Amino acid sequence: MGRDERRAFNEAVFREVNERVREITESFSATPEDDALPLVCECSDAGCVEKIELTHPQYERVRSEATHFVVVSGHEQQDLEEVLERTGGYSVVRKRPGEPADLAETTDPRG
Ligand SMILES: [Zn+2]
Repeated sequence: MGRDERRAFNEAVFREVNERVREITESFSATPEDDALPLVCECSDAGCVEKIELTHPQYERVRSEATHFVVVSGHEQQDLEEVLERTGGYSVVRKRPGEPADLAETTDPRG
């Protein structure tokens, strides 16, 4: 695996983790729409342990696009992605066209 592939792989893994968090939260909560989801940062650093809290609708908005990821502010990788939105403590990023976007689409858990 090349360096960029490795980074994309790490992001894909964090995205899978967050999908499981969402599923579990949904299955245990009577009001999942109102709950904050305790997500992990979806940046490319395998050792990143930062947490992000999003509401369900906020998370769904990110996840509705295969190339969108949510990362802690400052964890953006400008060479791989562009920042769409900066809020509170996190940023929504979009993978740049080409390999970064292709890898994000290939590994989309909702694809
Ligand atoms: Zn991070």
